[in-house]
Amino acid sequence: MSISVAIVGSGPSGFYTAAALLELGADCTIDIIERLPTPYGLIRGGVAPDHQTTKRVMRAYERTALHSKVRYYGNVELGKDIALGELRALYDAVVLSVGAPFDRPLGIPGEDKHGVIGSAAFVGWYNGHPDFRDLDPDLATKAVVVIGNGNVAIDIARVLVKSKAEMAATDLPGYAEAAIRASPIADVYMAGRRGPIEAKFTNVELREMGELEDCHPVVEAAQLPDTVTGEMSDRDRRLREKNMASMREFAAQSPAGKSKRVHFTFFAKPVEILGGGRVEGIRFERTKVTDGRAVDTGEFFEIACGLVLPAIGYQGAALEGAPFDARGGVIPNARGRVEPGLYVAGWIKRGPTGVIGTNKPDGDEAAEAILADAGAGGKPGRSALDAHLASRNVVPVSFADWKTIEAAEIAAAAPGAPREKFCRVRDLLAVLGR
Ligand SMILES: Cc1cc2nc3c(=O)[nH]c(=O)nc-3n(C[C@H](O)[C@H](O)[C@H](O)COP(=O)(O)OP(=O)(O)OC[C@H]3O[C@@H](n4cnc5c(N)ncnc54)[C@H](O)[C@@H]3O)c2cc1C
Repeated sequence: MSISVAIVGSGPSGFYTAAALLELGADCTIDIIERLPTPYGLIRGGVAPDHQTTKRVMRAYERTALHSKVRYYGNVELGKDIALGELRALYDAVVLSVGAPFDRPLGIPGEDKHGVIGSAAFVGWYNGHPDFRDLDPDLATKAVVVIGNGNVAIDIARVLVKSKAEMAATDLPGYAEAAIRASPIADVYMAGRRGPIEAKFTNVELREMGELEDCHPVVEAAQLPDTVTGEMSDRDRRLREKNMASMREFAAQSPAGKSKRVHFTFFAKPVEILGGGRVEGIRFERTKVTDGRAVDTGEFFEIACGLVLPAIGYQGAALEGAPFDARGGVIPNARGRVEPGLYVAGWIKRGPTGVIGTNKPDGDEAAEAILADAGAGGKPGRSALDAHLASRNVVPVSFADWKTIEAAEIAAAAPGAPREKFCRVRDLLAVLGR
């Protein structure tokens, strides 16, 4: 007998779970439930708008969505339109692949000031995520501090300093493009507690900072070690050596006529955000790195800025009806199984780390656990979900509806751009005449 599977969340881990079930030849129906009208999670709403090649993975997810066993239910939110207990009563297996959408707090005085915006909100804003469409960040400042030394920090810095021409072939929404162009931002400080060796940038992203049309990467040569030392895998050592080589090139570059700068600010632990109601600067304690850890030195310095963008990591949120490990921000599980009938994949399973492909083994594990637990099946699944949603007057966005939205976005694109996103739920639904 066929088993009914509901996957909640249409990001990479949701789609990899669906694909794994199909690859294993499971006799099943798979319903992918997504709170936004649009699919693909952080591929649409997180990956930087100027990294369209990375976003191409959506094509593989589309093939999965179009499989005859799979149905997409967009604009349906777990916890609002259907409770987890209700969903579990309808489906033999429920997979939670809802991601980790909230910023980890900085935990320093002043972080509630106007002008401190976490990366989840800021990245969501420049990616047209409906939750952040109306964020309206005040970019009327010459200097910005991005806190963090990972790829999200580098994405934010790059989007702020790239020229209009460099952003032309992207899907940066028109309102974000206009706000960034109108802004006087000239200096972006990217601050990390530890040093250049410990920075988590991947080399492709780092190198790009040395190739920008109107932005000079500022690195203090004296902060770059001659060799990469410390305990680490050969793979890590190679990556870090490549990063050191890129940063040495940056340190040797001339600023030649460039009007903007990204300052790689290492050994800087944020201790206080300064200002009255709004941000006027940030105080750091200088650190040194011992055995890979940042150690305080008692020496302080300040950077004047009007905007602070912490990009120090994400965390998941509790879902009613599922266990939650508040410290780790994840749903406790054993290889993707929370308990028979309930499974997890992706960031809500193991925390917000890794690249898109890291979510694939999560999908494999969840699918294997579902099939290992599957009894005879027999819960009604799709027909009962349809009846439940109809009783609540919830009209889901189907995958065909999404393709209609996508076609309208492509048609609205400026020349050379891949699409002009609709960024409010009402505008997305209006395309469908709703
Ligand atoms: C800013 C940023 C940039 C990144 N750039 C890259 C990159 O360039 N390359 C790379 O390899 N990786 C990148 N990553 C990492 C990559 O995006 C993640 O590994 C991946 O998206 C995690 O997948 P996920 O399915 O766990 O979560 P998500 O992608 O977050 O998907 C979760 C989905 O669940 C939905 N959802 C949440 N709650 C509910 C609910 N209650 N009901 C229904 N649906 C719900 C959400 O709307 C979302 O669509 C980036 C991450 C971030 C944050």
